[in-house]
Amino acid sequence: MPIVNRIADFQHDLAAWRHEIHAHPETAFEERRTAEFVAARLQEFGIAVHRGLAGTGVVGTLTGARPGGRAIALRADMDALHIHERNGHDYVSQNPGKMHACGHDGHTTMLLGAARYLAETRNFAGTVHFIFQPAEENEGGGRVMVEQGLFEKFPVEAVFGMHNWPGMPAGRFALRAGPMMASFDIFEITVTGKGTHAALPHLGIDPVVAAAQLVLGLQTIASRNTPPLESTVVSVTQIHGGDTWNVIPDAVVLRGTTRSFKPELQDAMEAAIRRIAEGVAGAMGASAAVRYERRYPPTVNSPAEAEIAAATAAEVAGEANVDRAITPTMGSEDFAFMLQARPGAYLFIGNGPGNGAGLHNPHYDFNDDILPIGASYWARLVERVLAKAA
Ligand SMILES: [Zn+2]
Ligand SMILES: [Zn+2]
Repeated sequence: MPIVNRIADFQHDLAAWRHEIHAHPETAFEERRTAEFVAARLQEFGIAVHRGLAGTGVVGTLTGARPGGRAIALRADMDALHIHERNGHDYVSQNPGKMHACGHDGHTTMLLGAARYLAETRNFAGTVHFIFQPAEENEGGGRVMVEQGLFEKFPVEAVFGMHNWPGMPAGRFALRAGPMMASFDIFEITVTGKGTHAALPHLGIDPVVAAAQLVLGLQTIASRNTPPLESTVVSVTQIHGGDTWNVIPDAVVLRGTTRSFKPELQDAMEAAIRRIAEGVAGAMGASAAVRYERRYPPTVNSPAEAEIAAATAAEVAGEANVDRAITPTMGSEDFAFMLQARPGAYLFIGNGPGNGAGLHNPHYDFNDDILPIGASYWARLVERVLAKAA
């Protein structure tokens, strides 16, 4: 059974909405125009709208034609990135330096498409909440919505999310039960020595050499400190220190990120970073100050909801187009906070080959052809989970 015919009928509207959102990208917690657009569409469909969670968050609430006390939530993200778009299409970003380079314009549109269809048909028992969240990129808008009482205001038994995946064939779905995306933590290490003339290194303590040793030392965390059968990443992504040729600086700052699929590995990596930083710096006569910050937990699908999501995807795209055992990615996703609070499942929808540009690339674009496929998945998911009152 392919995509929902009624949703295919309004493909033209879906593409127009997506282009409108794409042309006006807004970054973390500033999604005011986008939230206004989303709220206006939901109200047009006759859906009750709540605004203000995490500032620009929008939640639409719709009850089915049949009575029922059960409720689920579907979630889309609305934010763009600090990237200057390099596409030439006629809906190119009107906000210089900002761009929908992760496809959240498409995610928002697919959920709006499902909301329109479900408001017309209401062929389910119970309640569906459509969550449109701000600030998925880096800033954890999903976490803020949960902290501000998302699931107390809108109680649900399960929550579902979806992200496009460039390179995967258009309209194909992929997911797995258990960990699907990694935790995301950041660290900053300040190595402090004692500045001196570059020609007289013995009169100072060189933080550059200590920092170089430290970068290599940190590479032993994944190889020596965490179990070989567990996946971990420790990446140093910035080194800042010194201003000129002939001065050894007082201090060097290193920054980076860690990834894993288990909270206990986050604990182990933090402890190892602190130990190695202090030990290596100390061995060189320098000192190290470590700031380690937990950003996103791993995104973990609950088995029952992953099965429901996979069955729904198969209903829309055909069993052959659903990969139920995708290899997890070390990328991360703030939907993880919603999955910490409620059972649920997150899946990928293939965005097709496109022009070869991946997520967060200035040439990326969401594929309009998959809008009705994703919207159909959302609609069928509601009709499947809320088929019966209890
Ligand atoms: Zn992204
Ligand atoms: Zn994204």
